[in-house]
Amino acid sequence: MSLFDDLEQVYQTAQAALEATESVAALESWHADYLGRKGAVTLQTRSVGQLPKEDRPAFGQRVNAIKQALEAAHEARARVHKRAALAATLAAGAVDVTLPGRPVAPGHLHLTTQSLRQLYAIFAQMGFEVYEAPDVELEAYNFDLLNIPAYHPARDMWDTFWVDPSSPSTSEGIEGGDEARLLLRTHTSPGQVRVMRERYPEPIRVILPGKCYRYEQITARSEHQFYQVEGLAVGRDITMTDLIGTIKQFARLFYGPENDVRVRSSYFPFTEPSIEVDTNCTLCGGKGCRICKYTGWIEIAGAGMVHPVVLDNGGYNPAEWSGFAFGFGVERPSLTKYNVADIRYFYGNDLRFLRQF
Ligand SMILES: [Zn+2]
Repeated sequence: MSLFDDLEQVYQTAQAALEATESVAALESWHADYLGRKGAVTLQTRSVGQLPKEDRPAFGQRVNAIKQALEAAHEARARVHKRAALAATLAAGAVDVTLPGRPVAPGHLHLTTQSLRQLYAIFAQMGFEVYEAPDVELEAYNFDLLNIPAYHPARDMWDTFWVDPSSPSTSEGIEGGDEARLLLRTHTSPGQVRVMRERYPEPIRVILPGKCYRYEQITARSEHQFYQVEGLAVGRDITMTDLIGTIKQFARLFYGPENDVRVRSSYFPFTEPSIEVDTNCTLCGGKGCRICKYTGWIEIAGAGMVHPVVLDNGGYNPAEWSGFAFGFGVERPSLTKYNVADIRYFYGNDLRFLRQF
C-alpha cells in the first residue's frame, strides 16, 4: 500500500470517528487524536521524507487539504453538539405555564378579633350598641368617678401604667389633659361615666369593648394588656334580675344552649351589690377538671348594679334611675373554649398558633 493510500485510510477513519462522537468532551479527545500535535493526521506529514522528491508537493497538499476538511467538519460537529446541549438544558428547566399557580395564604382575623365580633353580635341581638372610649384615660374617669378616690384601698386592685403628660402625643383628644394625671385605662369601666354624661337623660344600653393595661407580672394566665367587654344598662326600673337574665342569655349564645350561670356575691367599688358570674365548665361538662379547678364552674364576668355614686357622677339621679354593669374578659373565654395553655400566645404573633383559629 502506498503512503497516499495510508493517508486516505487515516482520513476515512477520522471522518467515521468524528461522526461517532456523541458529546463535546468526545469531540475534544477526537481533535487531540487526529489533529493534535501527535494526532494521526499530523503524524502523516512526517512520512513525506519517505516519498520520491516529485511526489512530495502533492502529498503535502493532500495532507493540508485533509486537515482543513477535518477542521471544518469538526467545527460543524461542535455546533451540532452545542445546540443539542442547549436544547437539553432548556428542556430540563422548562416552566409548564399550564400548571395551576402556588396559592397565596390569604390570612384571617386574629382569634381575639373573632371573639370580639362574636360578642358584638350576641349583644347586638339584645339591643346593646358598641361605645368606644379612649385607651389613654384621665385618672378621674378610671378611678375617682367610679367611686375609687385616691385614698381608697381598692386602688390596689389595679396596678397602673401612668402616662407622662410632658409627652405631647399622649394627651391628644383627652380634655383637661394638662392638669389631670393620665394613665392607660386599667379596665373598660371609665367609659361608663363618659357614656352617661354624653347620653343623659336617655336610657342607656351599650357595650364598651377595648384594651386594658395593668402593670403586672406576665404569666401563662395573665398579660399586662388584654381585652375587656364592659356592658352598661341605665333605665327607670332596671333590677338585678335583668342583669342575671342578660348574662344567662349571653352564656347560652356564646358557650352553647345547655350552658347555665350561677352568681356569687363579690365586691367592686362601682357596683352595689356586686356579683361574680360563673358558667358550666365547657371542657369537662361540669364533671370537674384541671381548668375549672375541679369545681365544674368557670368564672366569666364581674358584674353588679351601678353604684348610686357612679350614677350621680354620670348625671343620673339614683333616686329615679338604676342600672347594671358587667365586664367580660375576651382572651380568657378563648383560653377555656379552645384549651389554650398560655395567654401569652395571643400577643406572640406566632403563625403556628394563629393559623389554628
Ligand atoms: Zn372543668
